[in-house]
Amino acid sequence: MQTLNCKKDFPILKDNLVYLDNAATSQKPREVIEAIKEFYEKENANAHRGIYKLANKATEVYEEARKIIARFINAEPEEIIFTSGTTESINLLAQILEDHIKEGEKIVITELEHHSNIIPWQELARRKKAILEYISIKKNYELDIEKAKKIIDKKTRIVSIAHVSNTIGTILPIEEIEQLAHKQKAFFIIDGAQSIPHLKIDVKKENIDFLAFSGHKILGPLGIGILYGKKELLKKMQPKRFGGGMIKEVTKEKAIWAEIPHCFEAGTPKIAEAKGLAVAILYLEKQGMENIEEYEHNLTRYALGKLKEIKNLKIIGPETTNQRLGVISFTMKGIHPHDIAEILDKENIAIRAGHHCTQPLHKKLKLESTARISIYLYNTKEDINKLIESLKKVEGVFSK
Ligand code: PMP
Repeated sequence: MQTLNCKKDFPILKDNLVYLDNAATSQKPREVIEAIKEFYEKENANAHRGIYKLANKATEVYEEARKIIARFINAEPEEIIFTSGTTESINLLAQILEDHIKEGEKIVITELEHHSNIIPWQELARRKKAILEYISIKKNYELDIEKAKKIIDKKTRIVSIAHVSNTIGTILPIEEIEQLAHKQKAFFIIDGAQSIPHLKIDVKKENIDFLAFSGHKILGPLGIGILYGKKELLKKMQPKRFGGGMIKEVTKEKAIWAEIPHCFEAGTPKIAEAKGLAVAILYLEKQGMENIEEYEHNLTRYALGKLKEIKNLKIIGPETTNQRLGVISFTMKGIHPHDIAEILDKENIAIRAGHHCTQPLHKKLKLESTARISIYLYNTKEDINKLIESLKKVEGVFSK
């Protein structure tokens, strides 16, 4: 397996850190860190407000970033709304869609969702007296399509599902769910937090109505995210955040909104973060999303094989690389996941332990918490070997 040989581009990884918590957040390449520094050293001003050169430059940086992000998912720039992350994107969307769902109508999600794709819909359902239903997960950790066919019915207005699970790594069959949702004229929403970093997504090809993702999980800075929305839909929606930057005209009595996407971006924009995210995307494109996908697929297969060598370890999720990515949760008999993570940390290996913000999924699986590794393009076979060596030590300590 040829590595992408890119670890050297990530300053934080230089001291033998084995970073395997990429589903939580990714590390940043030097180019991204430099781009943010350059903004504050040479380009800092507010966007869309000034008429002096520096302010124009800031506006240009911000709008250029929007174009790069749009191109990355095959969208139009006006379909890209900047938010602070996936959580903020879904919350904003749940507010926007409030005008498009009535009492007794349905919102459909799945049992494997992150809390960010559960609670905003619970709250919307409560406010509008709508019904929230869950498509179940089968014993083999795949989505139960037969259940989906029954649940997504003519009362369904919203279907919002993760593309990839942040806990069990499953890739959901979004094409099939898209067909079911659109047959009922429901909005088809994808939480792309765990897929955008690893897979090439084409919003047109997949016919996605709204897509949410976070910049920090795709090599970009913290604090920026995207809500993509089809322009014909966004044009029919009302803004839900109000203030500067989102209006054409304001009188004492009322306001006229700016065009999309600006009407959904009230307040001073995150210009440095947008630039950082655009540079992160350029970095990923330079590596090639297909190469990243293939490399991670092979590394995931390697990791799954190695993990299976550990006797007391149980993988919680699909055991083959079919329909899964490199987010691998596991438990070890008689050892609490927090103890596993703590011992590995002593060896400079960073993994996650806990419920990974998927408590309903953990409850369904009858687990309190799991340990989780999640790989990204800079991880190597050596990282996995170090992990396995250390897990064997953990097993040794606890079997005494
Ligand atoms: N959805 C999924 C599937 C996630 O993995 C995460 C982050 N763990 C989120 C939503 C929330 O992302 P953020 O915290 O960046 O808003």
